[in-house]
Amino acid sequence: MHVNCPYCDAVLYVDTDDNTVYGGGKNEMSCDKCESNFVFTAEINITYDSFKADCLNGVPHKYELTHTYPKEFSKMECIMCGKLKDLTIEERKKHNIGTISEYFKNITNESR
Ligand SMILES: [Zn+2]
Ligand SMILES: [Zn+2]
Repeated sequence: MHVNCPYCDAVLYVDTDDNTVYGGGKNEMSCDKCESNFVFTAEINITYDSFKADCLNGVPHKYELTHTYPKEFSKMECIMCGKLKDLTIEERKKHNIGTISEYFKNITNESR
């Protein structure tokens, strides 16, 4: 990372290997060129990705089964907005997934 000296505008290299300069705090530094002391702040650039979410604009959510183990804990997740919902009885049947209480019943039976 580089900062400009606020006094002489020299471009100065900052060693950011240990990441301690990040976090919004002030870091002291002295200029190699004009020997002025100054402080700088640094922030890691956060990038945002944006995706279309038609379901937030009046289109029905498009749910797909999450890949969860055990599968009884699976949920339906909207592939557009990421909204989660529990499976309906029909969806459990369709994907051959039992309910969570059935799952616990099965483990208790197996341990006997
Ligand atoms: Zn300077
Ligand atoms: Zn959605």
